[in-house]
Amino acid sequence: MSKKVTKKDETPTEPKVEEKKEEVKPQKVEKPKREKKKRIEKGVHAMYKVEGEKVTRLRPTCERCGPGYFMGDHKDRYTCGHCGFTRYKTH
Ligand SMILES: [Zn+2]
Repeated sequence: MSKKVTKKDETPTEPKVEEKKEEVKPQKVEKPKREKKKRIEKGVHAMYKVEGEKVTRLRPTCERCGPGYFMGDHKDRYTCGHCGFTRYKTH
């Protein structure tokens, strides 16, 4: 077994001169940031609480629309976004 070591030094690799391209940056037009109102919306699943096999609804449902229509939880009342039914909280 004879190892033939072929050196390929005959073709010197030219060091590539990196052309400095002046990048023409498109002027960014700064858009005025629209402050989106952060809505705390967790979705319907947040209104259910599953404990084992029990499903408890964290929100009252509308009396008019029936189960499935959750009422919005307000400080002193619940309102239905579907029909506008308002039920005041009783303490
Ligand atoms: Zn309703």
